[in-house]
Amino acid sequence: MTCSKCGSENVLVQLVQISAKSRTKGKGCLYTLGRWFLIVCTGGLWLLFGKKKTKTTTKFKNKKVAICQSCGNQWDVY
Ligand SMILES: [Zn+2]
Repeated sequence: MTCSKCGSENVLVQLVQISAKSRTKGKGCLYTLGRWFLIVCTGGLWLLFGKKKTKTTTKFKNKKVAICQSCGNQWDVY
């Protein structure tokens, strides 16, 4: 790999984290409404069950970035 700016082969490829998305599975408007409905129907019992079902997953998005060690030029690698 060579730098497009200066032509140097002294290029370092790094993995850069561009975003980390945390989301709770099954959460949404309908889920919240349904959950409250169940809580009311079961007289609060559902709170005990509902807690166990929530699961948070984190998704990381990475991209490869090449950095020229000679001139500092940066570009994306696919
Ligand atoms: Zn360069």
